[in-house]
Amino acid sequence: MIAMAIACNPELLIADEPTTALDVTIQAQILSLLKELQNNLGLAVMLITHDLGVVAETCDEVVVMYCGQVVEHTDVDTLFNNPKHPYTQGLLKSIPTIHEDVDELETILGTVPSPTDLPVGCNFAPRCPFAKELCIQEAPPLLVENDDKIRCWMYSDRYDHSSREEAMKIDIPV
Ligand code: SF4
Repeated sequence: MIAMAIACNPELLIADEPTTALDVTIQAQILSLLKELQNNLGLAVMLITHDLGVVAETCDEVVVMYCGQVVEHTDVDTLFNNPKHPYTQGLLKSIPTIHEDVDELETILGTVPSPTDLPVGCNFAPRCPFAKELCIQEAPPLLVENDDKIRCWMYSDRYDHSSREEAMKIDIPV
């Protein structure tokens, strides 16, 4: 598949879940091959994955999507060391760590809403520990904070910032 994809000398290779269902050895080989192609052919590679380990290992920039929308766009170091969107924070907190003895794994409560029945306001509001009236009534725009983009009212002056401080205190395992 990869040979077919690069046969026409593309500038961009889109790899949609290229390592799903592969054992770790083959997964490492595929990721290493993609890196090699990127360096040798000057390709840009867009990797679509649910595996945050693969993201940490291979990506420079990360776009986190929720309900078909970009909710956070940042560089890979910032994503893992200072995630800003509550959904990204929830994803990272749900990664089990071998350093802690826990009775229960962290999860993001609730389920993803149906695309035909999305909330009026923020799509993540029904599952978000920081949701406020504003979030329920109005969909947040994609805000720019320094070099990052975040779709969350917490990064707007319209949000009660005492809650934002709570969000920043979340202890993310790295
Ligand atoms: S806009 Fe509100 S509900 Fe949506 S992620 Fe931000 S804090 Fe949570």
